Order: sequence, then C-alpha cells, then structure tokens
Amino acid sequence: MLPLLQRYFAQRELIENLASQHHSPVKLLAVSKTRPVTEVMTLYKAGQRDFGENYLQDGLKKQHLLPHFDITWHFIGPIQSNKTRDISRYFSWVHSVDRLKIAVRLNQQRPVNQPPLNICLQVNIDEEESKSGFSLKELIGVIEPMLALDNIQLRGLMAIPRAEKSVSEQRASFKRLADVQAEINQRFNLELDTLSMGMSADLESAIAEGSTMVRIGTAIFGERLKSAVL
Ligand SMILES: *Cc1c(COP(=O)(O)O)cnc(C)c1O
Repeated sequence: MLPLLQRYFAQRELIENLASQHHSPVKLLAVSKTRPVTEVMTLYKAGQRDFGENYLQDGLKKQHLLPHFDITWHFIGPIQSNKTRDISRYFSWVHSVDRLKIAVRLNQQRPVNQPPLNICLQVNIDEEESKSGFSLKELIGVIEPMLALDNIQLRGLMAIPRAEKSVSEQRASFKRLADVQAEINQRFNLELDTLSMGMSADLESAIAEGSTMVRIGTAIFGERLKSAVL
C-alpha cells in the first residue's frame, strides 16, 4: 500500500478510536495545502471527501482539475479582502473568519444560487500577538452581527493554539474554546455544532476537549512541499 494511504488509514483509525472514547463523531479534514492533486485523488478514492486549503490559488487549481469530484472544500488560511469573492464562490466552508468585515464581504459575495456559506470564527485562543483571530472578549460582540448575515451560516469556532505546549496546556486552550462556544450557544440561544480544533501535533488533546473537526496535514501527507506542485 502507498505510504500516503497507510498514513491516511492510520489517522482515520486513530481519530475514530479517540472519538468513540470521548463523545460523538469527529470529522477528518485532510489539509492538502501544497500537496499535488494526485494525492487528493488518491485519498478521494479511499473515501475522503473533506479537504482543506490555505492558499487560494493552489486550492482553485485543484478544484479546477477535479471538476466532477464530490469534494467539500474548506478554506482555512488567512483571508485578504481582495480574495473574498473567489473564496465565497468556490468553497463550502471557511474556518478562518477573523474580522466582521470579512464576514460581511463573504455574505455579500456568496452567489444566491448556492446554499449559505458555512463559517467558523477564528479565535486567538492563546492571545498571541502574531496570530490572527478574535480575542475571547471581542468574540461575544460579533455574534449578533454575524447572525444577521443571511448568506453565511455561523457553524462554530476554530483555533490554532500556540505550538510546543504540553498536553495539559493544549487541553486548557481547547477547553477555553469549547467553553466559550457553550456560552455563546446559551447566551444567544444557538446550536453552533462545530469546534474546528486539532492538527497533527495536538489532535488527541483536541478530541478529548470536544473537537468535532480535526484539520490534519503533515500526519497524512508528510512534510509540506515548499511550493505547490500540482
Ligand atoms: C496547515 C494547517 C493545518 C494542518 O497542520 P498539520 O500540523 O500539518 O496537521 C491545520 N489548520 C490550519 C489552519 C493550517 O494552516
């Protein structure tokens, strides 16, 4: 079996086992950024349907090369204002909404013949200066304006915690995200159902704290390539 498939099935099994220990199912988002389209096809044939991309041009090229594949594309990278039109048109999910202005643009630009765009708000859970995302304080104030936007569907929260933390610190960060989501659901009478948290290095901690979607790149694809090779 291809090493890629071995790693993929191993991750799938690991996630299923962890999820069954802790709670309901956890969706695996395969982060294919910088990886060639042939690898996306290989995983697709093995049953993978959700793929995440960080770089718009790279993601659009892959979509263009796979027009008849029943893939759900997730945008997970930093969003510049001039990219929102293509993101809103060609992706089903956006995990990295970090400003109200970006949500307003995605809402305006989502084609009317498509279902609402699923979005997660990115939270700067460890309050790092270098990282984008809402602070926990800002977050509560943007929920109502987000709910007023008809062409986007607020699904939950996403975070990328500080790297190189101990397991207990990882868990504490993920728990903060899960707690604030529960608070939002209660306060605004919502049923946000997505906690996009956990990557290759911290998926166990994330699932233990209630992740519903893990975003896995390296553990499936191996080290990322420097530039996109399609
Ligand atoms: C690259 C990336 C991932 C995947 O990270 P790995 O450590 O390779 O699993 C997940 N989420 C985001 C937002 C990313 O940019």
